[in-house]
Amino acid sequence: MTPSQEIALAVAASAVVAAIVIGAVRRRARRIAEAVAYVRGVHYVLSDAPDAAIGELTRAVELNPSASQSSIETYFALGKLFRRKGDLEHAIRLHQNILLRPGLPAESKRQAQLELALDLQRAGMLSRAVEAFEKFLAEAPTHPEALAGLRQVHETARDFEAAAEVQVRVVKSGQGGEAVLAHLLASAARAALGADREHAQKLADGAVQADASSPDALLARAEVLAARGQPQQAAEQLRTLLARTPEAALAAEPLLAKVLPPDEVVAALAGDGPPARWVALGRARARAGDRAGAAEALRQALVQEPGFAPARRDLGALLLGAPLEPGTQPAYEELLRALGRHELELQCDACKQTSSEPGWQCPRCGAWDSLRRAG
Ligand SMILES: [Zn+2]
Repeated sequence: MTPSQEIALAVAASAVVAAIVIGAVRRRARRIAEAVAYVRGVHYVLSDAPDAAIGELTRAVELNPSASQSSIETYFALGKLFRRKGDLEHAIRLHQNILLRPGLPAESKRQAQLELALDLQRAGMLSRAVEAFEKFLAEAPTHPEALAGLRQVHETARDFEAAAEVQVRVVKSGQGGEAVLAHLLASAARAALGADREHAQKLADGAVQADASSPDALLARAEVLAARGQPQQAAEQLRTLLARTPEAALAAEPLLAKVLPPDEVVAALAGDGPPARWVALGRARARAGDRAGAAEALRQALVQEPGFAPARRDLGALLLGAPLEPGTQPAYEELLRALGRHELELQCDACKQTSSEPGWQCPRCGAWDSLRRAG
């Protein structure tokens, strides 16, 4: 080797070494920058600044687009943020991209599949959400969040039978949920009434079987019996319902009025009980033409619960509907007293929405049996 060749070789060798060193330094710098961006992103997540968090986490991902575990975690954090902000298009694309990665660990793949299903649910892409949830559940058949998500998608699509089938899986896997199953089968029975009454009967029987203490199930069975021309059996179901759950009187009263003459409805609803029962009795008495009796029943409801919205509304309407008479004077005074108090507020356990109307389902998020007295 000539001296000039030796020099050239030495130069080339040190260039290679320099390139390796620079590469290592750059990689290290990138890793540090990625870690800093990730930590900043997490900080913004914690301080509830989703836009800033998305900026930092996107930077972290750009600095390390490899399939390393740390970058996957960053992707998931980013995806959750997109979904929380309602940027579902980005969330869906991001989770689809994770799923397309070669060599993705099985656990990450499952997580991406679940996140994608939740994105699609949130975006209202119901049939694609069903597909995504089922794909996830094929691997993890009893996963509570996925089963709940799939059930809700079917409920949103008002396919209560499909929702009930999902809920059967929840119950069978020992996670409870019989009360929700009864609600779903009761809803399915009502939906089937128009087309196939025999099938509706089976569904309503299934609802009672799923949860014999479910007032919704008993009411659905009574509705089916009434629709099938069996008013006496329907009335019997409703009497059972009222004996077990007098709180359900308001829901039961319209059907009672269909299957029994007015005086028998009044008799069925008479008795001491919660404010709902007094209001239902007030409605029944008003239907039977007994204004003073109706006012007295509604007054009783307000004595028990001055903030009970249905009682205030009914009594107000009753008293405004005709001139004041001596029999309704005490009710009028009770109403004035009650209006000085706060209205009774019910709050959803699941979404914290408040409502003054009693019901089995949250009007906002659709959770079952979630409304409780607020405060
Ligand atoms: Zn809710």
